[in-house]
Amino acid sequence: MTTKRDYYEILGVNRSAAESEIKAAYRKLALKYHPDRNPNNKETEAKFKEINEAYEILKDSKKRDIYDKFGHAGLNPGMNTESGFSGFSSGQGFEGFDFNFGGGEDIFEDILGGLFGGRRKQRAKRGPKRGADLQYTLKVKLSEVAFGAEREINFEHLVICNQCNGTGKTSKSKTEKCHHCGGTGDIRISRGFFTSIQTCHYCKGRGEIITNPCENCRGTGIMRQNKRLFVKIPAGVDNGSTLRLRHEGNIGEMGGEAGDLFVILQVINDTKFQRKNENLFYDIEISFVQSAIGAELEVPTIDGIANMKIPAGTQYGTIFKLREKGLPILGTKKRGDLFIKTKILVPQKMNSEQKKKLIEFAKSMGENIDFDEEDNGFIKNFFK
Ligand SMILES: [Zn+2]
Ligand SMILES: [Zn+2]
Repeated sequence: MTTKRDYYEILGVNRSAAESEIKAAYRKLALKYHPDRNPNNKETEAKFKEINEAYEILKDSKKRDIYDKFGHAGLNPGMNTESGFSGFSSGQGFEGFDFNFGGGEDIFEDILGGLFGGRRKQRAKRGPKRGADLQYTLKVKLSEVAFGAEREINFEHLVICNQCNGTGKTSKSKTEKCHHCGGTGDIRISRGFFTSIQTCHYCKGRGEIITNPCENCRGTGIMRQNKRLFVKIPAGVDNGSTLRLRHEGNIGEMGGEAGDLFVILQVINDTKFQRKNENLFYDIEISFVQSAIGAELEVPTIDGIANMKIPAGTQYGTIFKLREKGLPILGTKKRGDLFIKTKILVPQKMNSEQKKKLIEFAKSMGENIDFDEEDNGFIKNFFK
C-alpha cells in the first residue's frame, strides 16, 4: 500500500475545521486544479483526484469521525457499518465485524426518544459506547477436533491509549469549552417544520475541545495494539463452531466496555477421513482375492492403526462399523463411530501364467469360457 497524505493536509485545513471551512477550502482548490483549467496536465489531475477524495471523507461527519480516529486504515471499503468503524483488517484470516448490539440499542433509544422528547437519545449518545466485536477465523485440523487443542492467535484490537490513559490529554493540553456548540455538544438544524439535533462535529458531542492533544492517539484516547492469546479448542467442535472471548474486541468510546472477540472455527478437510457430525468414514481398498477369501486388515483410525477382519465373500461397497472410533461428541464423554467401506481392486496387469490360472479357476466355478493367446489375450465367451 502506498502511503497516503493526510486529508486535512490535502485541503489545507485544521483538524478542528468546521464543515463550512472544509467546503470553502475544497472549492478553492477544486477550482484551481480542475482539469478544464489544466488540460493534459497529469500532475494537476492527480491533485484534483486527491482533493476530491479528501473532501468526500471530510464532508461526511460519520466518515470524518472514523478518519479522525483511525486514519486511512479505518476507511477500507466494506469495513464500515451503520455504527461506524467496526474493526480492521489485519493480515490473514482476520476481519472486523459488528454484531450491532450498539445499533440495536440505538434503534430502541430512537423510539423511546421519539416518544419522550428525545432526552434519552441524547443521553445515550453522549454516554459510554460499547466497543465493536471482532471476528477471527481459525483453521483447525481433524486431529485437533478429535483430541482438543490449544492454539495461539495474534490479532489487533483497539485499546485505551497507554500514553494518556485514555484521556486524550498531555500535560500541555488544555480543555476549552467548544465555541461551536456553546458547550452543549449539540447543533440544532431547522428544516421547515422540523428541527433536528445533531452531534456537534467540532467537539464530537463532548462540549469541550482539547488543545495540544495526546499525539499517540490524536486525542481520541484509543490506540491499536497487537494481542497474542491462547485459545482452547474443545474436542468435538464442528465447522462454524464459535468461541467467544469476552472483552477481547475493541475498547468502547468514552469509557465504554470492550466488545468481544469471536473465534470462528473452520475445520480443514481431512485427506483420509470424511466427517458427518461425530461419525467418520473411510474407504479401504482390498484385492479381489482378499474379498473372496476373507482377510485381517490394518485400518487407520483417528487414534492410530486398528485391526479389522473382513469375512470371506465380502462384496464391493460393504460397510463395516468400528464402534466409538469416531469423533468425541462436544461436551460429552461419548464418541461417534468409524464406518469403513470396501473398494475392491481388480488387477490391471497380469501375465499369461496368471491369466491361465484365472481361467482355470473360472472353469472350476462352472464358467463356460476359453482363453486364446493369439486373439489379443481376450477371453472367448460361449453362451449356452
Ligand atoms: Zn493518548
Ligand atoms: Zn461542540
